[in-house]
Amino acid sequence: MKLIKKIKKFFYLKILKKKYYKTGSCALCGACCKNIYIRHKDSVIKTTEEFEKIKLEDSDSFYKHISIIGQDEFGLVFACDKYDKEKKLCSDHKNRPSICRNYPSEEIFSYGAKLNPNCGYKFESIEKFDEIFARISKKPTKIFKELN
Ligand code: SF4
Ligand code: SF4
Repeated sequence: MKLIKKIKKFFYLKILKKKYYKTGSCALCGACCKNIYIRHKDSVIKTTEEFEKIKLEDSDSFYKHISIIGQDEFGLVFACDKYDKEKKLCSDHKNRPSICRNYPSEEIFSYGAKLNPNCGYKFESIEKFDEIFARISKKPTKIFKELN
């Protein structure tokens, strides 16, 4: 069992370059279908012009189904028209695009975003702080000594 855990950890950390395990499942709360920021390539979509350009260039049908509902200092805020407000879920859940299937990904943290507290998924850090500390404490370390 320990070996399997070690292999899994190695695969996530070294091959997938992940820092977290994603656990849980979708609770169908619909939060990630409304009031959302969209990251395209390396940054969050910030302007209407940028969004219009992406829609022309990117054939992903996802972009055809989202519309701008606001804007703040972080970027444009979108909602998806496939979200069924009455049923509170995606009207085309089986065929939802990969961006939705992959949500949430740990990359959201690099944008300073947080996971919705009602989301059925959770992230667990792969390396616990005490493991990191135990590893680095074995290495030779230079410690700054203040002069009196
Ligand atoms: S396609 Fe479905 S899952 Fe994806 S944002 Fe729209 S409503 Fe939500
Ligand atoms: S926020 Fe989480 S629980 Fe809610 S619909 Fe999206 S993935 Fe599912």
